[in-house]
Amino acid sequence: RPTYKIASIPADGIGPEVVEAGITVLKCLSKFLYTFNLEFEHFNWSSNLYLKTGKYIPDGGLERLKEFDAILFGAVGAPNVPDHISLWGLRLAICQPFQQYANGGRSHVGQPWEVATEVAIFTRHAVERLIRFAFETARSRPRKFLTVVTKSNAQRNGMVLWDEVAELVAKDFSDVTYDKMLVDAMTVRMTLKPETLDTIVASNLHADILSDLAAALAGSIGIAPTSNLDPTRKNPSMFEPIHGSAFDITGKGIANPVATFWTAAEMLAWLGEEDASNTLMECVERVCEKGIKTADLGGTATTIQVTEAVCEEIERNLDVKK
Ligand code: NAD
Repeated sequence: RPTYKIASIPADGIGPEVVEAGITVLKCLSKFLYTFNLEFEHFNWSSNLYLKTGKYIPDGGLERLKEFDAILFGAVGAPNVPDHISLWGLRLAICQPFQQYANGGRSHVGQPWEVATEVAIFTRHAVERLIRFAFETARSRPRKFLTVVTKSNAQRNGMVLWDEVAELVAKDFSDVTYDKMLVDAMTVRMTLKPETLDTIVASNLHADILSDLAAALAGSIGIAPTSNLDPTRKNPSMFEPIHGSAFDITGKGIANPVATFWTAAEMLAWLGEEDASNTLMECVERVCEKGIKTADLGGTATTIQVTEAVCEEIERNLDVKK
């Protein structure tokens, strides 16, 4: 049976609480399924480390990460570190190290005539690679339906490239239906007619906003997962709950671990362990149906109680299968 090496980076706020919960259910799955082993190595890369050493990622850190099959990430962000430093210092420093992505220029800082720009660079190659992946993802799902989100009426350079590329790539996917939306109208459609949507592709900033909206519409930001995938599999992919470090509930033991469980399920599927992934999601759904939920979903359970309930469900599920 294969052994997967997982790098865990819990980082800040509720990150350690939910990653611990995620690792508990993953260990429980591998214990009862007997089909694979998991080896975890923990990295203390966090805002605390940054405040002590000036660095989120120690020298040679990214090279070390390359030895792993996947990365399980918590959340980064601390009240005493500006968000753009924590985000670029750790999360984006891991998930975008090899991409030409964004560029900013700031001059005359603090002066009334200060100028600040935020330039997003889209290469045809990168846009096509992403849109092709989105069409492939849509093709693998039952409804075979993709919505391409841009803001090409206002952002007439970069976003128009997205529209053009989508049209070209669509020719290779005649079995997939696709439509285009402007991001502002998309928020309305997601809110009023979510059933008309399935797979969605958008640039980083738009997707960042829409994914939080999607999570809230589904009930809570505490349930949605994120996968940062390298489809070439040359580098380990990174899996994380969509939420941030949630300072307001850190240390209270009430963080919803479901986003991290779903994240763990996506990680297992990516590693090729589809059965384990499906088992985990079925067990999480059953626990939610029983009403064992944290406060954000209207329940009274703690993080640990939800985690234990999922582990019990995993054990019961496998007993039933035997
Ligand atoms: P947040 O997601 O941390 O919190 C928003 C709200 O949702 C809070 O009220 C919080 O209590 C609630 N919430 C979040 N996760 C929850 C969970 N698992 N269970 C129950 N409730 C949950 O967003 P924010 O307040 O905008 O950001 C806080 C910090 O996190 C900032 O420093 C921000 O930069 C950082 N952040 C990091 C990531 C990341 O690491 N990927 C993502 C978003 C925000």
